[in-house]
Parts: sequence; structure tokens; C-alpha cells
Amino acid sequence: MLLMCLIFSILAAVGNNDVIKMENQMVDETIFSKIIRKEIPADVVYQDELVTAFKDINPRAPIHILIIPNKLIPTLNDLVDEDERAMGRMFTVAKKIAQDAGIAEDGYRLIVNCNVHGGQEVYHIHMHLVGGKPLGPMLVN
Ligand code: 5GP
Repeated sequence: MLLMCLIFSILAAVGNNDVIKMENQMVDETIFSKIIRKEIPADVVYQDELVTAFKDINPRAPIHILIIPNKLIPTLNDLVDEDERAMGRMFTVAKKIAQDAGIAEDGYRLIVNCNVHGGQEVYHIHMHLVGGKPLGPMLVN
């Protein structure tokens, strides 16, 4: 009986790999997890043990890169202290990508949207790095 329970648990876990357990809540994976694991194509410009960066599929500026933690964190509201290293790495990687792209001196913008009012569409924290042209005012009235 114990063995049967164990086998069923393993099968359930294997068959349910699009769902991650986070602090007693089940969190759906997004397309970004598949990009991190290279299961679907993306133009990845940087990856290390903490973060992945790739070109936005619908660029809103000449340079539009998404920088994401490899760990599935749905929104800024879900951050915990242990995520600080990955969040810090996102900034240093943004700086490096901007330098490599030749836009560091002219300047660029980093954006992280949170939830509905923030306009977040993909529920895996991501930092937009946009630049390559003057971006205008930060918000439209
Ligand atoms: P949000 O509105 O959530 O801050 O931004 C989500 C971003 O993800 C959008 O700019 C959108 O174009 C981008 N995006 C959505 N799906 C994909 C995808 O499959 N591949 C890539 N490279 N970008 C995506």
C-alpha cells in the first residue's frame, strides 16, 4: 500500500510539471519557464545560474530585452529576502547588456510591471530593458 502511494505521488508530480508549489500556494508556470529551460525558442542574450535575458517578442524600442529570475516568482509582491541576489543580478546584467548594445551612454529605461494596474501580462517577474531611441516621458497622462 505504501509503495502504491509512493508510485501515485511520483506519477502525479511528473504529470503536473507546469505547476510549482510556492509557500503553500500552487503557481502556474508561464512561457518564460520554458524559455529558461530552452524548451521553446527565444533569442537568449545572457544566462547564468540566477537569471536569463532574451529579446522581447514584440519589441517596443530598438533594444527591448527581458531579464528574468530563473526561479518562478510571479510578481514583485511575491518576493522574499532570499530573492535579493537574483534581483540584484537582474540590474547588473541589465547594465552589461546595455553596455554591450552600445546604449549605456545615451541611456535607457528599466521597467517592472506588477499586477493589473501595472499592466503585467506574464506572471513571472521580468525587467524590461528598453532603449536605442529617446523614450519620452515615463508615463502618459
Ligand atoms: P508585461 O506586460 O507582463 O510586463 O510584459 C510581458 C512581455 O513579454 C511583453 O512585452 C511581451 O511582448 C513579452 N512576451 C510575451 N510572450 C513572449 C514570448 O513567448 N517570447 C518572448 N521573447 N517575449 C514574450
